Amino acid sequence: MANRGMLIVLSGPSGVGKGTVRQAMLKDKPQDFKYSVSMTTRKMRPGEVDGVDYFFRTKAEFESEIANDGMLEFAKYVDNYYGTPLKYVNDTLAQGVDVFLEIEVNGAMQVREKCPDGVFIFLTPPDLMALRDRIVKRGTDDEATIAKRLNKAREEIKMMQNYDYAVVNDKVDLAVKRIEKIIESEHLRVPRVID
Ligand code: 5GP
Repeated sequence: MANRGMLIVLSGPSGVGKGTVRQAMLKDKPQDFKYSVSMTTRKMRPGEVDGVDYFFRTKAEFESEIANDGMLEFAKYVDNYYGTPLKYVNDTLAQGVDVFLEIEVNGAMQVREKCPDGVFIFLTPPDLMALRDRIVKRGTDDEATIAKRLNKAREEIKMMQNYDYAVVNDKVDLAVKRIEKIIESEHLRVPRVID
């Protein structure tokens, strides 16, 4: 039987550019993994294709999927549902093929609970890394002039603690390369348990 594929989860704060990085990854090495197309209740944008960008569904259809345990995870984001259909992920992993998810942070934490063997990658804006370093160096010291930004950054850094890797999105092609290196290294991991 083929080894199970690896579940790769790309997530991060709103507006960091997850979608752009995902699209660039799909162009760069489409043969290396399968992208799990999400389901959403939001309206289709110009140029989007049902079944390619998302499975566009009504609220009732989405809620019926939830009721039938058809979703690996789901979250409400700006008044719409977004979620990962479970069957595609399970079937693809069972075939020994890696699956790539690009989802917001609440959904990523649900996946972490259900699939602890997954690889969880946090995409971060460049200034967040710089702020993190400052906060780490200064301990709990809060500078009044940057307090507001630091507070927001703290929230995001707290989120980051739940992931295995942090990737800075300074340039899309660099972020893609970093993610590809992570995937490559994870494939070289020595299995933790041998019976
Ligand atoms: P957009 O409407 O811009 O395509 O996506 C909005 C947000 O939903 C983005 O942060 C995106 O990462 C997230 N998202 C896309 N698909 C999923 C999904 O299947 N599950 C969850 N939890 N979030 C998703």
